[in-house]
Amino acid sequence: MNYCFGVDIGGTTIKMGLFQFNGEVIDKWEIKTRVENEGAAILPDIAASVKEKMEKYKLEKENVLGIGVGVPAPVSENGIVNGSANLGWKYKEVKHELEEYTDINVKVGNDANVAALGEMWKGGGLGNKNMVMVTLGTGVGGGIIIDGKILGGAHGAGGEIGHICVNYEEEEKCGCGNRGCLEQYASATGITRLANMRLKKDDNPSKLRETEVSAKTVFDAVKEGDALAIEVAEEFGKYLGYALANIAVLTDPSVIVIGGGVSKAGEILLTFVEKYFRQRVFFANESVKFALAQLGNDAGICGAAKLVLN
Ligand SMILES: [Zn+2]
Repeated sequence: MNYCFGVDIGGTTIKMGLFQFNGEVIDKWEIKTRVENEGAAILPDIAASVKEKMEKYKLEKENVLGIGVGVPAPVSENGIVNGSANLGWKYKEVKHELEEYTDINVKVGNDANVAALGEMWKGGGLGNKNMVMVTLGTGVGGGIIIDGKILGGAHGAGGEIGHICVNYEEEEKCGCGNRGCLEQYASATGITRLANMRLKKDDNPSKLRETEVSAKTVFDAVKEGDALAIEVAEEFGKYLGYALANIAVLTDPSVIVIGGGVSKAGEILLTFVEKYFRQRVFFANESVKFALAQLGNDAGICGAAKLVLN
């Protein structure tokens, strides 16, 4: 029992990895996600790929402790998914079905939660047992790790940080149907929206008037000292920083890790978030550290593997 598989199922590709217990990656590869026919081929494809690698590395079932799987949907404690729009799945007993195909123990978790576990094991949260991770991508994802374990909750929806209400007066709707969610201000889409609203407010000069507005161009302009872009970054930092201060009161983490495409802006992003976090943090949470995620696209397979080891 020295090996485990980590599987990260996305809407276009399935990332897979073979790990040793110490975290060393033996092999890393991808297969296509076949979403047609309600995603019926996804789990059989994963099983076939696992078998193929076991043959390649001459592994017997006795050598493999399990297969960890991250899924883009809430996942119940017994590995059941009740619909995933990205994969075409309706009701799916992921754990049970994949165990049938492989005869290997399977553990399943939500992809954002699993990525958080990966960052704690081998990335920005290394050495911590209590961690909050925020993923700033098209949306805002999150994962909360308490005492080394994912906070899954009663419906597998624990740690959905993106849908905390941070603006009670918001009139536009979030993708979830609510109004005023963190995602509307702190995601790549949210930052673009804040920037466009700011640009419309007056005619003040800005580099952003000469380029396509995106989270990347906003932070590029911030780095060049663009006053209007800095205003946008301050607003973003205020929403996310205050929200994280609230989350810290509930979860008391030792580290907050920020990842996702927006975090490619680098350390400068953390300065805007931390500034407002420090303004509102509860005194008992003052020593929280901030870190950038380090594993990029590999966080999912690492965390999925760790799911098996926990
Ligand atoms: Zn929402």
